[in-house]
Amino acid sequence: MEAITASAESSNRNRLGHRLEVVTAIETETRYHMEDFLKLFEKMMISGFVGVYLRIDKSTDSSTSSTNGSKESYTEKSIPVLAVAAGCGAVLNLKLAQNEWPEQPFPETETGIFEMFENPLDDVTGKLPEEEQQAIAKKRLYTGRSPLIEKIDYKGHYTITGEGYEFLSDLRLADIVEAGDTLGEFTQKQAFAQMKNGAYEDYVYRRSFLETNAYIPMETLSVPGSGAPAQTEEQRRFMEKEKDLFRECYEQHQQGPFYVCPNCGLILKQDRSGRKHCISKWCNAEILKKEPELVQTGRGLWILKDPIARAYYYPGRLEQQIKAKLDKAQKDGRILSYKLWPGNNPYVFDTWDFRIELPNGRSLLMDAKDVESPGSIINDYRVALEENEKLYYVVPNERTKSFCKVVNQAAGMAGEATCILLKELDQTLERENEKL
Ligand SMILES: [Zn+2]
Repeated sequence: MEAITASAESSNRNRLGHRLEVVTAIETETRYHMEDFLKLFEKMMISGFVGVYLRIDKSTDSSTSSTNGSKESYTEKSIPVLAVAAGCGAVLNLKLAQNEWPEQPFPETETGIFEMFENPLDDVTGKLPEEEQQAIAKKRLYTGRSPLIEKIDYKGHYTITGEGYEFLSDLRLADIVEAGDTLGEFTQKQAFAQMKNGAYEDYVYRRSFLETNAYIPMETLSVPGSGAPAQTEEQRRFMEKEKDLFRECYEQHQQGPFYVCPNCGLILKQDRSGRKHCISKWCNAEILKKEPELVQTGRGLWILKDPIARAYYYPGRLEQQIKAKLDKAQKDGRILSYKLWPGNNPYVFDTWDFRIELPNGRSLLMDAKDVESPGSIINDYRVALEENEKLYYVVPNERTKSFCKVVNQAAGMAGEATCILLKELDQTLERENEKL
């Protein structure tokens, strides 16, 4: 394998060497600017993934809606942004070819776009010239990603992976808007953008709610003797104040029975054979050990939609556990204060999950990471810190110390950040506060 790579590389070098000798004057004209390359690359990635998201979304829409008589097939409906992405891919390949680069790895068709996202993105970017690879790596959004989508059946149906939802929520609204006017409809529709549309306080309010409300009863008032709980005051307020976001995040289910996941608290899905399942392997292991509890309902429930559950609720459980520990530490005077989802400058928010001020004047930044692979922590985008600041990644206790060890020993982690288990949080606060 190594030998093949090495010989391919040397043949690239030969071709390049040859090119440099022959082409000189034309070179400066055809050689594109790195900035243009990056812009086009990002437009392809963003419109491509948004298009894939819409295609997958449309296919589930049509398979579940029984009211709509004319069922659309999976690929019938045209998605303009996919054509935009394929166009960008073709131009990028052309530019590479003009520079006599032997590989043209970008997708030029819808099928190609799906194939690209079905594999690690590094498979594509790894085929680019060194300079382009480095420019993309600086963006950090695109490197070290595991596949963003996966096939769910032999008919070629796909689903978005956890990594894919992470990618979607990492895309900033500005990126999506810059990707083209054709995405206007998408930006209006999607909750990810709506979440960040407003002031910092709105964001904290919305995200905290979605992290703690897996479902909402339909009943506004409890019916005596029914045993079914009604909406809480907090839930009623959210549904009223955040009408659009609420509609984007929750869907109505009237047909029970509903069961709650003993691990995470989401409402379980049931397949035709009645087997109950949730969104992670840890949940599904718990379900086998412990009988899920039935939710008492009258008219039904508003249930968090799958993408929102995966992007906010599920990873948010760890954040809520950290928050509970920090609340206690603040009460005991072990920390001065903390802030949820702070930004690294006054104009942004959510650079980290927590900023903690210690009595000794130091600040700790913390990110909750409920991820399966150490790679997504090692390759995480990190902004530069001030001298009295320190960054910690907190992982669930189930990840064990050996997971943290792998992360902490990786190149680039030392001095930049430290990974700890949730149960090590209190002693970490203590240790940091003892530092001068
Ligand atoms: Zn669960």
